[in-house]
Order: sequence, then structure tokens, then C-alpha cells
Amino acid sequence: MTTTTDTSAVLAAPAAKAAATSATMTNLLEFDLDGLAAFCEKLGEKRFRATQLFRWIHQRGAHEFDAMSDLAKALRDKLKGCAHVQALPVITEHVSADGTVKWLFDVGDGNAVEAVFIPEDDRGTLCVSSQAGCAVGCRFCSTGHQGFSRNLTTGEIVAQLWFAEHALRKRLGRDERIISNVVMMGMGEPLQNYSALVPALRVMLDDHAYGLSRRRVTVSTSGVVPMIDRLAQDCPVALAVSLHAPNDPLRDNLVPLNRKYPIEELLAACNRYLEHAPRDFITFEYCMLDGVNDQIEHAQQLIALVKPARGEGVRCKFNLIPFNPFPASGLLRSSHAQVQAFGKLLSDAGIVTTVRKTRGDDIDAACGQLAGDVKDRTKAAERMAKQRTIALKPVT
Ligand code: SF4
Repeated sequence: MTTTTDTSAVLAAPAAKAAATSATMTNLLEFDLDGLAAFCEKLGEKRFRATQLFRWIHQRGAHEFDAMSDLAKALRDKLKGCAHVQALPVITEHVSADGTVKWLFDVGDGNAVEAVFIPEDDRGTLCVSSQAGCAVGCRFCSTGHQGFSRNLTTGEIVAQLWFAEHALRKRLGRDERIISNVVMMGMGEPLQNYSALVPALRVMLDDHAYGLSRRRVTVSTSGVVPMIDRLAQDCPVALAVSLHAPNDPLRDNLVPLNRKYPIEELLAACNRYLEHAPRDFITFEYCMLDGVNDQIEHAQQLIALVKPARGEGVRCKFNLIPFNPFPASGLLRSSHAQVQAFGKLLSDAGIVTTVRKTRGDDIDAACGQLAGDVKDRTKAAERMAKQRTIALKPVT
């Protein structure tokens, strides 16, 4: 059964309340622990107070300072005068028959972003957005076709995790952590929003917040080479690269950023990254497009790239993604048989290869379908209003 709910009235209460005062108030979701400590220092408070506050917000999902019972009343009063915990208003929440949950969040000025929770037996993964829209413009990506609106702030990235974790705990009646993995694979190119991304990653990793393992936080990039190098230094987490083509002419066409950072440079950056990465492989994402990049010669070219007869290659895994067709792309999904045959060629060459299971098909939660209903940015506000109306009706 698929359920669809407009949760905005119930769950966005802190957001709505905060919006009225947001011009003068500091949103504490914007800070990693060092940032929060600096903010508290300006209030004349010691670092351990920032740690307490951080734990209340992220570990316990508190947004009312009065609920933070072990903070001194004087500090709570000070915080009430200058800060808040501002969630993102939820426009819609869709729950798939397979347990996948998709939230559409309002980020203002007619823009919306999505986060998707994917439950599995041994993990709970949250797919998080980093930008409203995306400037890279990959041909097979619905978000890319929408164009770029703006970067999310650190607080807007963190708010997706903060909300999802605590909403799911409430719903499932559990106290322990629900989300064990975060993948920055929602809307946007995270490495083109680097200064907001890195503090958000630090919040995810911090033991006083979500305490996620570096191996379980993945940044997915279309290949912003200089930022891959910076991430290796600043905050190495697992890295996924949207490859999608085995040669430059084809990749130039599918992933326009390739014209700036061609495959050879990208693979060299992957190898440099591996010197710092928490995992000893890069995941290459490969969207299977019928007759475009799914032929035997494409698989052979990929093998030659990552496992050359001579030279270095790249330690990697491949994740083959069934394409989610949308009309503007002019592209079609490869057949199941073609995906299997392609995967077998890679596997037989000794490359660990998986085929991504499609999840949440009934709620359009799959890769490349995020915020598909708000893609025309000139009419985004109208579309979002329509979303709200649709969300009140059951989806069949
Ligand atoms: S696949 Fe990623 S980088 Fe490419 S357009 Fe879509 S969101 Fe942007």
C-alpha cells in the first residue's frame, strides 16, 4: 500500500514558527560542533555547553530550548533571544509499499528539494540533496533538466537528516538510531556546494550528533576534480563517481562537466582520493541507457579503463543503475537482459558489479526522479501548490 500525506501542518511547526523570526535568529542547524562552540563562546559559554546543546539537537531531536533540561535556565533564556532550530517545512511525505519514504521540503522562493529514506534489513539509508536544482545538466537526470536555482546552506542539508531521523524514530516508536547511512545523491552536485557540504558532513560524522562511520557517508560527484582533492584533505568519506560512459566523446554528451574534467583526469583524482578514503575502492555509478552506453564495446572500454593490461587502473566497484525514463530526456531504459549481460562482462573481468534495485517506484523516489514535479522553475510555486493538493489524495 502506498500512503501519501501532507505533513506540513504537523511536522513543520518549528519551521513555521522560526520563519517569522529567521531574519534575526541564528539557526543552530547551520553549525558543526566547532561552529556551535564558537557561537556559544560569543554568548560567554564554555565549549562543553555547546556539546550539550549539540547533543540535544541532533541526538534527541529537541528544538525547544525549554526541553533541554540540563542547560542552565540563564543559557536557555539567552538562546531563546538569539537562536532557534529551524526545520525545513515539509510539503509532502510519500510512503512506498516497500517502506521507502520520500519527503519534499520547501526551501523558499518556489524551490523544493527532496530526501529519500530507503530501509533495508541491515541498514537505513537517507539520500540527501545538496542544491535546489543542479547546474551540471546530465542528460539522463530529471534534476539536471530543471536547471540550477541555488546552493543549500549547511543547515538546509543537515535539516533533511535531522528531520528524517527524528520523524522516523517517532513513527516507529524507537529510541535508537534509524539512519545508518547517508548518501549525498539527491538533487545537486555536492562538490559544487563545497563550503556548505563539509560542515554538514562533520555533523553527520560527529559522535555527539549522528555518529555515522566515514564508510557509511557517501559523497556522489559527477567529477569536480579539484574538489575531490580538497575533500580528501578536509573530510574524507566514501566516494561515488557518476561515470556513465567509458570514453570522453560519449561522456561529454551525457555528463557535460566531462568537457572540463575528462576521464583521465577524473580517474587520476580517484586514485589520489583512495590514498585518504575510508574505503579501499571508488564506486562508479553507471546509468544504463538503451543503445547509448550499454553495448558490449562499452563494457570492454570500461574494463580497459579501470583494469588496463598495463598501468595503474582504479580500485573500484560498479553500480549499474536502471534508468528512470522521463520524456524530456529522449532516452530509454536498457533491457533487463542487457543490464545483466553488461554486468556479467564486468564481473568476469574481476570487477565487483551490482545492479541497483529500484526502490520506491510507486512514489517516484528513484535516482533521477527527485522533485520531478517542480522541474519548471518559472512555475515552481504553482507546481508546489499543486503538489500540496495532490498529496491529500491517495496515490494508486
Ligand atoms: S546526475 Fe547529479 S550532477 Fe548530474 S545533473 Fe543530476 S543531480 Fe546534477
